[in-house]
Amino acid sequence: MFTLPLLPYSTTAFGDLISVETFEYHHGKHHKSYVDKANKLVAEDEALAGKSLVELILSAKGGLFNQVGQIWNHSFYWLCLSPEAKTPGGKLAEMIASQFGSHAKLLEKLKEEATGHFGSGWTALLIDGERLQVKSYHDADCPVKHGDTPLLILDVWEHAYYVDYRNNRAAHIEAILDKAIDWDFVALNLDRKGTERADQKG
Ligand code: MN
Repeated sequence: MFTLPLLPYSTTAFGDLISVETFEYHHGKHHKSYVDKANKLVAEDEALAGKSLVELILSAKGGLFNQVGQIWNHSFYWLCLSPEAKTPGGKLAEMIASQFGSHAKLLEKLKEEATGHFGSGWTALLIDGERLQVKSYHDADCPVKHGDTPLLILDVWEHAYYVDYRNNRAAHIEAILDKAIDWDFVALNLDRKGTERADQKG
């Protein structure tokens, strides 16, 4: 059975940046629904019993893939957020400076990608060998499916921002990137130490 992970902060921690109501819907209803539907689909098919979340992401198609992809993406997304303003340090900061020019330029690139992505999906900062890369995924598609290693993921589905920002995805993405990213967690993922926390065993 997959479970809805607890949020690593209080739902009041972000104030107006991400409201309690957004957490109640986004985590408490949307994410929970992906978990419940995945468990139901797995329970209906004996061949799927005991498979881990990652095994299902790599093998499932259609409806089940959508649920397990969304479980992984959301589990990882919550860990990317922090109510305390942080900035990248150490090796990550050096890589950002050498490959994008500056932290501000990386944020610009992420904003452009996340705002320009058509329809629902996810925008991620990935590590490919020693190269940082910005890439988007449609709908429930998931970095794990492609063997990609995400450092950071941004939810660009309307349900992530409609309560607080209505149709203004750009304002939501800008606010999150400027004030709510856990850059310590992003740095942890350079050697995949954080992504493992989203790989539920089931
Ligand atoms: Mn979402």
